Amino acid sequence: MRGFQAYIDGAFTEGEARFASLDPATGEAWAQMPEAREADVDRAVRAADRALREGEWPRLTASARGKLLYRLTDLVAENAQALAELETRDTGKIIRETSAQIAYVAEYYRYYAGLADKIEGAVLPIDKPDMEVWTRREPIGVVAAIVPWNSQLFLAAVKIGPALAAGCTLVVKASEDGPAPLLHFARLVHEAGFPAGVVNVLTGFGPSCGSALTRHPLVAHVAFTGGPETARHVVRGSADNLASTSLELGGKSPFLVFADADLDSAANAQVAAIFAATGQSCVAGSRLIVERSVKERFLAILKEKAERVAIGAPLDMGTEVGPLCTRRQRDHIQALVDRSTAAGARVLAGGRVPEGPGHYYPPTILDCDGTSAPALAEEFFGPVLSVVSFETEGEALALANDTAFGLASGVFTASLTRAHRLIRGIRAGVVWVNTYRAVSPIAPFGGTKLSGHGREGGLAAALDYTRTKTVWLRT
Ligand code: NAD
Repeated sequence: MRGFQAYIDGAFTEGEARFASLDPATGEAWAQMPEAREADVDRAVRAADRALREGEWPRLTASARGKLLYRLTDLVAENAQALAELETRDTGKIIRETSAQIAYVAEYYRYYAGLADKIEGAVLPIDKPDMEVWTRREPIGVVAAIVPWNSQLFLAAVKIGPALAAGCTLVVKASEDGPAPLLHFARLVHEAGFPAGVVNVLTGFGPSCGSALTRHPLVAHVAFTGGPETARHVVRGSADNLASTSLELGGKSPFLVFADADLDSAANAQVAAIFAATGQSCVAGSRLIVERSVKERFLAILKEKAERVAIGAPLDMGTEVGPLCTRRQRDHIQALVDRSTAAGARVLAGGRVPEGPGHYYPPTILDCDGTSAPALAEEFFGPVLSVVSFETEGEALALANDTAFGLASGVFTASLTRAHRLIRGIRAGVVWVNTYRAVSPIAPFGGTKLSGHGREGGLAAALDYTRTKTVWLRT
């Protein structure tokens, strides 16, 4: 069985305990992971705090920090295949997706490498002739970065990149489900030559490791991605120290299809929106809101495409939908499908756990029209699409906003004026029009309502890892 180590204070370590990681394609243990508890967390945070204040890191110029980030970018690109394979092996995310995603993980590091020497203060035109007043952007401090199992390398990159560009140090907590790619990534951080303690990477369980990290008095900021219930623990944990938080949480994103849309292209986008990453995606377009006059036609196209999706082994390049990361997740999905059918939802495709090993669940479509099935409100975080229909644009907008979440949304229409009205009306952090799931390091990303707050990506994300110091100098 393979063994992985944590990375604390520039050294690789076994951790306070070990736990087995399961291969989602077989359900069998394939690797041993280091379990960090309170003592490891404390060591890592203290190392990050020392590295922030003492030694080489705080004395590096911004462009020298940028050079280290460029070196890390190159190492991520050179090791793309190994990273993608580890992510696939440990989380079940298919190799097609992990290979494609690692390319833009490198792009995010490259973007923030280039930003390191562009974070500027300002000279203020204060109305006092004998004063010079200016601001300095200083690193916010030790950052705790906590990520969930899906897209760990990516979700860590959008935190590590801007935090390092701003001069912070970090303790990164990989998810206990599928931590292998991030633990391996720590080797690249080491090879890139970051001083000891600048980036620490560990894993462990939420209530012990995650909670110790958020409560640690030397942590200045918690950058968290995960579910809303965990986010409440994170906010409570960080409250004692009044540490700041940025929260990237779940979603129940609406996918609006109007009768004038190109239905075939909208159906392709809908299939990718809900079934990519086996639905384990915070931006999954999980609520199809379709104009009633084209509902049957659109669902027929969709069903045909959903049934053609190739389900298989995640390491096989031909696979389009793989297993879910954990059995717990599959049980949650089946229970929510069952509660929804009991509330009147009709299964149009999938809906049952298949025979055989692994945590597989088939692409599923639930017609929820005329019901208040829980499938319309609760996050599956799996390959299940819930469908409702509308007659007027006002009804479509009301349905889109009828959710506790507010992460992403998609609008498919040929009418630009309608698109503009919906862009203004939809309460979500991202609106994609006639496209879905597009991302770029240059574009901010984040949610509203129960989908959290804070933005990742773009220049503002790097500024979020700084605090402004104001200097008054009498001349
Ligand atoms: P989760 O909230 O259960 O776990 C996320 C992380 O928090 C894990 O590392 C876990 O160990 C840690 N954690 C658990 N309890 C903790 C505690 N008490 N204190 C501190 N840390 C703790 O999430 P999950 O089930 O692994 O992931 C799925 C969720 O993540 C979904 O809701 C999904 O929508 C969301 N997500 C959001 C985004 C986004 O960018 N908005 C991206 C991906 C996933």
